Amino acid sequence: MDIHEYQAKEIIAGFGVPVPRGGLAYSPEQAGYRARELGGEKWVVKAQIHSGGRGEAGGVKLCHSEEEVRDYAATLFGKQLVTKQTDAGGKGVYRVWVETASDIERELYLGFVLDRASERIMIVASGHGGMEIEDLADEDPESLRRMVIDPAVGLAEFQARELSFSLGLSGGQIAQMVNVLRGCYRAYRDLDAMMVEINPLVVTGTGDLVALDAKMSFDTNALYRRPEVAALRDASQEDPREAVAADNGLAYVGLDGDIGCIINGAGLAMATMDMIKLAGGEPANFLDIGGGASPERVCTAFRTVLSDTNVSVILVNIFAGINRCDWIAKGVVQAYREVGLTLPVVVRLAGTNVKEGQEILRNSGLPIVAADTLAEAADAAVAARQQPAAA
Ligand code: ADP
Ligand code: MG
Repeated sequence: MDIHEYQAKEIIAGFGVPVPRGGLAYSPEQAGYRARELGGEKWVVKAQIHSGGRGEAGGVKLCHSEEEVRDYAATLFGKQLVTKQTDAGGKGVYRVWVETASDIERELYLGFVLDRASERIMIVASGHGGMEIEDLADEDPESLRRMVIDPAVGLAEFQARELSFSLGLSGGQIAQMVNVLRGCYRAYRDLDAMMVEINPLVVTGTGDLVALDAKMSFDTNALYRRPEVAALRDASQEDPREAVAADNGLAYVGLDGDIGCIINGAGLAMATMDMIKLAGGEPANFLDIGGGASPERVCTAFRTVLSDTNVSVILVNIFAGINRCDWIAKGVVQAYREVGLTLPVVVRLAGTNVKEGQEILRNSGLPIVAADTLAEAADAAVAARQQPAAA
């Protein structure tokens, strides 16, 4: 789960990382008021969306008067901001952050990520910030420093100092950098984060370190024990299809094709995507109904998949272990009746109570295409999308 820049800044500030003073606004008038409240002569107005690359996309602006702050904010609110990191539809701007502008002497990059190879939290840093990490890796790979943190020891002081030196910091900045590194590490570890990124971390005109941008994302599987983090969710920034599924406890991934997929288990979902592509089709999504799915849950899954208007056929592929094929079949039949399905549906069932399941589908009298293997199911789904809708 991603959060906004202003939320990430508030979190890391709580762990001792210096951030600019700022205030949140939900309207242009409020943005102007925030500038007055903060005082000073220069402010930076920043669109709050779940994406980086806002600067280049016109979502960040240095302003010199309260009016300028208000007018610029007025151009942001309600806009779909398209950045290098969003899709073509962009992300809606409904919150704007106004903060005190800093004098920038030097920009650094600092990121904390999970390194799957070493199974540890890894720091990635560069003395050349401001660029996105992907571009840094392409254009200036030499500048990247990597450091793995031993979970039993935590981030050791000597490690933090070594990293600070290697970024070309000196004097009092070393102690400040050690403080920033430790603060970010603790925020990451204590809140079950998946990523903390400060880009840029700047050295100001007075030689102080300040985090001008902050990005955090969290492990959704750990949100149950971090209610304060879960509360930061902003559904307006999510794919609406995925948001609805998440609200119903279903795992949903939106894609660009037209074959809607209801599957149990991520592994089977991957295999099904591959088979659909092999058969010449494109998945519109995949929805993982998980284990022990009741007919009601299957019904909800249909509703969710159908809310995507690109879907022209639905493929149900279930390998029932904990699930029961007869329950899945009942759910499919129920969905047909309750949702008023008009699209072709292909069902492949295997595993527990498969005979009972197939019988329910056969006896339903509904135009459901039954398939025995995954390959057959994929072929049938690709063929069915060219057909007119079933009765
Ligand atoms: P994004 O990464 O989405 O483009 P940033 O928060 O990194 O957004 O802002 C883009 C650029 O704007 C930064 O690299 C920095 O140069 C400048 N900037 C951002 N916040 C401030 C600030 N408070 N003072 C001065 N410059 C800023
Ligand atoms: Mg940035």
